[in-house]
Amino acid sequence: MTTIRANCPSCGDVQLTAEDLTVRVCADDERGSYCFRCPDCQRAVAKEASRRIVDLLVSSGVRMQVWRLPAELGESRVGPPLTPDDLLWFEDVAAQVRRSLNR
Ligand SMILES: [Zn+2]
Repeated sequence: MTTIRANCPSCGDVQLTAEDLTVRVCADDERGSYCFRCPDCQRAVAKEASRRIVDLLVSSGVRMQVWRLPAELGESRVGPPLTPDDLLWFEDVAAQVRRSLNR
């Protein structure tokens, strides 16, 4: 079982396993984040995660949720549209998730 070290604002570094974390990736703006409940103080902690961190967590067996912004926010979104590269990346991460689920 891979041990993942994360940082709780109250307790500092805490040791987690892949099951303790959830990675969330927004399909609309590609922002990644992860969240976990601190094993020491039970506080729910959420952090921004770069694509590299998301890859790392997912390949360690952390489950990933892809979510979309509510439709009414769609009009005001800024940022470039998804490119084929981004879609490839999603495919790749999704494949990793499938592999880890089949383990
Ligand atoms: Zn804590």
